[in-house]
Amino acid sequence: MTKPIIILKIGGSLIAPKTAKKPTVDFKTLKRICMEIGSAYKKIKNKKNLVVIHGAGNFGHLIVARTGIHRGIKSEKNLIDFAETQRLQNQLNVIVTKELIKNGVPAFPFQSSGHALMKKGKLSKFSTGAIKELLKTGVVPVAYGVPACDIHQGCSILSGDEIAPYLAEKLNAEAIIHATDVDGVFTIDPKKSRKARLIRKITRANLKRIKRCLSESAAIDVTGGMKEKVSKLLTMKTKAFILNGRKRNLIKHAMLGKATRGTVVKL
Ligand code: ADP
Repeated sequence: MTKPIIILKIGGSLIAPKTAKKPTVDFKTLKRICMEIGSAYKKIKNKKNLVVIHGAGNFGHLIVARTGIHRGIKSEKNLIDFAETQRLQNQLNVIVTKELIKNGVPAFPFQSSGHALMKKGKLSKFSTGAIKELLKTGVVPVAYGVPACDIHQGCSILSGDEIAPYLAEKLNAEAIIHATDVDGVFTIDPKKSRKARLIRKITRANLKRIKRCLSESAAIDVTGGMKEKVSKLLTMKTKAFILNGRKRNLIKHAMLGKATRGTVVKL
């Protein structure tokens, strides 16, 4: 029997910041986050199951931008790029799971590209049989953003932000916690405007206004990080929290169900 499930997504921006010019881990932040997860896990493990998902950050962004494989496999060389991108994501996953295991979490590397099919860049099928059984054993599956098989174009990118809500719905999760590098969802990208105000709650009542804010912020932020994240969350019923993983103990508190600064999404 599985217990109520918490899905924790650790943003790539936290553990492998996109400003780096080559694959680089921010070990200081990673170690502190894994310690927080380990400490909260000890307290909740008898009552809850945990799934961790991490982003790719500079382990994914750089090679994908350079090779263009998110648009598909267009040459023989792209096959090497596809394979090398997956290998790099595995490498980051080994580093993350090693730190989690050191902190007493039975972190089980889970390669989503072995279970998922994409269609024109969107997740089309994700077979959850294995992850459900893994949860029954009590391990903590640790999935991550990956280049995955696309039935139209050979390859596209299955991001951690897409895996999290998909699994939340399929596994009937209790909550999703998104740890990123800003305090939550703002009226505009807080890294680009001092006028940005934190939106504490997203509900049906303010949904239209929020969508307007997000499309405005996406106009400035070409990668549309937060827009993608939130628009995926808005397609599901699971309660979600978006919080700042750079701030000490916020991940731990959220895992323990304590109120904390950030944005709550409850539709
Ligand atoms: P992660 O790698 O943690 O998943 P992303 O880089 O995908 O994070 O998304 C987070 C980034 O989105 C923030 O660093 C922020 O600069 C940007 N962003 C754009 N618009 C907004 C907004 N309206 N509110 C908050 N963050 C925003």
